[in-house]
Amino acid sequence: FSGVLAGKKGLILGVANNRSIAWGIAKAARDAGAELALTYQVEALEKRVRPLAAELGATVVGRCDVSETETIDAVFAEVEKLWGKLDFVVHCLAYSDKDQLDGRYVDTTLENFNQSLAISCYSFTAIAQRAEKLLKDGGSLLTLTYYGAEKWMPHYNVMGVAKAALEASVRYLAADLGEKNIRVNAISAGPIKTLAASGIGDFRYILRWNEYNSPLRRVVTIEEVGETAVYLLSPMSRGVSGEVLHVDAGYHVVGMMNPSAASK
Ligand code: NAD
Repeated sequence: FSGVLAGKKGLILGVANNRSIAWGIAKAARDAGAELALTYQVEALEKRVRPLAAELGATVVGRCDVSETETIDAVFAEVEKLWGKLDFVVHCLAYSDKDQLDGRYVDTTLENFNQSLAISCYSFTAIAQRAEKLLKDGGSLLTLTYYGAEKWMPHYNVMGVAKAALEASVRYLAADLGEKNIRVNAISAGPIKTLAASGIGDFRYILRWNEYNSPLRRVVTIEEVGETAVYLLSPMSRGVSGEVLHVDAGYHVVGMMNPSAASK
C-alpha cells in the first residue's frame, strides 16, 4: 500500500503510547506516504507522544482534551496554520469512569452517562464540525468502535451505549457531509491490549475467548487495524461511506461458541 496516501495530510487524535490503536494507524498512514499531525490529551502524555511523533516525522499540534472545547479549537487553528487544509482525521479515543464498567449497566449514573457519551461519541461530531472547512478537497473521517455497540458484552456497560451512538453518528455525519465528498466511517476493532483496555475487567479472558472463537482463531493487532485504516483514509475506499468495518478476525459473524474451544 506504499504511496496510497502520498501528499495527504492527516490529523490523528488518541496516541497515548506505542500500544495505542491510534499509533498503529499513524505508523501505517505514514508508511503509506501521509504527512501527520498528532495531539496529546494531557501534559503527562506529552513526553510519550513527542518522541513517537518524531519517529514518524509528524508535527505535534498541541494538547487536545475533547472535554475542553477550546483545546479542540486550538488544535484545528494550529492545523490550519500548518497546512491550510486537511485530507483526513482519525478519532481514536473514548472514556468512561472505570468503576462503572464493573457491575451492572442499570446502575450507571447520569453524570457518568453524560461524560462518557460526550467524550466517546459527541467529540467525533465536534471534530467533524471543525474538520469540514479544512477538508477542502473532500476527505475521510474515521473513528474506532467495538462490537459491544451491537451486542451485550461483559464489563462494557455505558461504553456499549456510547459506541452505539457513535456508530449512528457515523451514518448521520456521512449523510450530512457526503455532498462535499467527505466520507465518514468506523473500524470496529477486536479486543487489543492497550491502556484503555486495561480498565476493562477480565480483559485477558476476553482476549482468550476471541482467540478460541473467532474464525481466524486469533486476536488482531494495531498494525492490522492501521492497514485497514489506510484503506478507509485513501482513495481505495472512495465509494465507501457510513460504514462500520469489523477488523476482529471475523468474531462478529460467530453465533455460538466453537465446541473445540470448550475443551481448552
Ligand atoms: P489508548 O488508551 O491507547 O487510547 C485511548 C486514547 O483516548 C488515549 O490517547 C487517551 O488520551 C484518549 N482520551 C481519553 N479521554 C480523552 C479526552 N477527554 N480528550 C482527548 N483524548 C482522550 O486505547 P485504545 O484501545 O487504543 O483506544 C482507542 C480507541 O479504540 C477508543 O475509542 C477505544 O474505545 C477503541 N477500541 C479499542 C479496542 C481495544 O480492545 N483496545 C477495541 C475496539 C475499539
